[in-house]
Order: sequence, then structure tokens, then C-alpha cells
Amino acid sequence: MKAYNFNAGPCVLPKEAIESTINAIRDFDNTGIGLMEISHRTPGWERTMEETRQLWRDILNIPAEYEILFLGGGASTQFMTVPANLLNKKAAYLQTGVWAKKAAKEAKLFGPVEIVASSEDKTYSYIPKGWNVPADADYFHITTNNTIYGTEIRKDFDASEINNVMLVADMSSDIMSRPVDVKKYGLIYGGAQKNVGPAGVTFVIVRKDILGKIADRQYMNPLPTMVDYRTHAAEEAKNISMFNTPPVLPIFVMHETLKWLKNTIGGVAEMNKINLKKSNLLYEEIDRNSMFRGTVECKEDRSIMNHCWVMAEGREDKEAEFMAFAKERGMVGIKGHRSVGGFRASLYNACTIEAVEALVSCMQDFEKKYK
Ligand SMILES: *Cc1c(COP(=O)(O)O)cnc(C)c1O
Repeated sequence: MKAYNFNAGPCVLPKEAIESTINAIRDFDNTGIGLMEISHRTPGWERTMEETRQLWRDILNIPAEYEILFLGGGASTQFMTVPANLLNKKAAYLQTGVWAKKAAKEAKLFGPVEIVASSEDKTYSYIPKGWNVPADADYFHITTNNTIYGTEIRKDFDASEINNVMLVADMSSDIMSRPVDVKKYGLIYGGAQKNVGPAGVTFVIVRKDILGKIADRQYMNPLPTMVDYRTHAAEEAKNISMFNTPPVLPIFVMHETLKWLKNTIGGVAEMNKINLKKSNLLYEEIDRNSMFRGTVECKEDRSIMNHCWVMAEGREDKEAEFMAFAKERGMVGIKGHRSVGGFRASLYNACTIEAVEALVSCMQDFEKKYK
């Protein structure tokens, strides 16, 4: 049966990336040895690392003063690593979901944290507005896409909007979905498994000059070697940046996924157009269909990646029925997160327009049953 994958993460990946990975697992780079068995110091692998980093630079237009690191531990480990490297006196966080809340919790281990605003009062169904970033914060942390609630900050804040405080962003679930002005950020991080690869590799894009400035802090100072970003960046002058064994397999899939994004799609500006088209198609149906309603309060806060909806008022008793109806038609991973309920469809980069059309038809057919 045809299955349409709308899972929130790990995500659907381009078929081309899966196929070429299968081949590399059998024989990597004509070495006669499989990808999972090669030494990470073989020239072919060092080249793959460099190409992967170059693909990031090309696709997101990342300036030379930024390092690009591929680490283990997931975005959740970065919740600790970011403050470990950057929090000297104080940090500011915008609390737009549980991921943001978890990130702030880790930062509190390292120093005072100011939550500039939170939308927890309404199950994070909106992006707070009208907040003020304290000018004395070492950095201001945002979560650009709130995977669980379907809200997104789809712009790069100007320095003047955030009191000239350094901007740090968890972009786990919308990285590479649109062009980003990297120069406006001190650091961007995320798990690969939402839009650029499988689980097992975490990306960090960090401006080199912001590191090594935790002189005043007591806790975890000096930094343990593996926690210090400079450990992983230091070797980059030699173009390898592998302090220890990197997650070879996930990085390879990321390499193939980015090649697809750059060459087949044509880059992030093109990807953004396709994503908007897919997203509009689904939101139009959520808004039109009398059986359903969207959960995000303001339309301008709606995520282009994760789409959340519930049964319309008076139709709540049909929820389980729609779930079964959709499942029968091959829709996979549309159950909403337990904190929001209802449904969530994640339309990441590799999700096809055909899949979205199938979901929309399914919603229309369900409505017809009750008209
Ligand atoms: C999934 C997700 C995380 C957690 O990522 P892991 O790699 O599983 O640790 C963090 N932030 C956001 C926005 C996410 O969507």
C-alpha cells in the first residue's frame, strides 16, 4: 500500500538520498568497503565531510567567519552546550513551546535566565509579541519552529528588534525550509532528523568570535573538551573537523539530502516556494472544511512545516473515526501531539505535493460522508 509519511520527526527523506545511501552502504566511493565499515580518516570520507560542509555554505550562504559542526547528541544536548559556551552573566529566552522551555531549563544551570515572554498560558498556540530583550543578556534564544504546536517565527530578527543582543536559534524543524540571513545569528543549531537527514547528527553553525568568553562564570569553567565548540572547530583549519569519530552514516544521508536540495530542487528559495504551496493547500482545506478547525490563534504565526488541527465544534466525537479513515487511505503520522490533541501533518522538504493532495482529498471525502 502507498504510505504518505507526515511524521513530525524523523521525517520523510528524498528517495534519491535513500537509494544512493543504500549503494554506499554496500560499497563506499569504489573502495570495496561499505560506508558503515570505512575508517573516518579515509580520504573519500574526509572529502565527503568537506563537501557536506560546503553544501551547507552554498545552500544557506554561510559566511566564512562561521564554523559548521556536525555533532552527536541531538538538539537536546545543544540545550546544555549552548549556554556552556555562551552564558557568561545572563541569558534571555523566548518560551514558545516545550522545546524552548527545556532549553531554558538547561541554561539555568549556568546562570540567570530571563524568559522575555511565554505562550504557555494557551498551550503555545501563538507567538508572543511585544516583548523586550534585556540589553545585558549574553544572548537571546529563540525556537524558530515549534514542532509540536505548529507555530513559527518565519523571519530573521534585526539587531534593533532585540536590543542588539546576540541571537541564538534552535532551527531543528525548519532549517533549510526557507532562506535564512545567517549573519543575523551568533549561533544556529538543530537535530538533522526533521528536515536534512536521519537522527544521529546535530548541526551547529557558529560565528567563531563569540566563543571563549565565559571568563566570569564559576560553573563548568573551563569547559570539558567535548563540550567546547572550539574542540570541534579547531581542526577545521586542516579541513577535516573530526576531533573524534563523527556519525558517518547520518552525515552521508545529510550529504545526499543536501545534494538533492541544491541540484534537484534548486536551493532554499525554490524550496520555500514549494513549501508555501504545500502548506497553503493544507491550511486552505483546514479552514474550509466544516469538520475541522486549526489550533493556532493567529494565521500569521502558522508554521509552514507542522500543521495542527482538531475536530470542529460539535464534531469532536468523530476524531477516532477520521483517524481510522485517514489511516485506511495511507496517511501515516498525523496524530497530534498529546498536549495539543487532534491532528498534525508535517510537510517537511521531502514531503511531496502529491502527498498533500492525497491528505486534502481524504479530508474532503470525510466531510462528504456527513453532508
Ligand atoms: C525535535 C526537536 C528537538 C529535539 O531534538 P533531538 O535531536 O531529538 O534532541 C529540539 N527542538 C525542536 C524545535 C525540535 O523540533
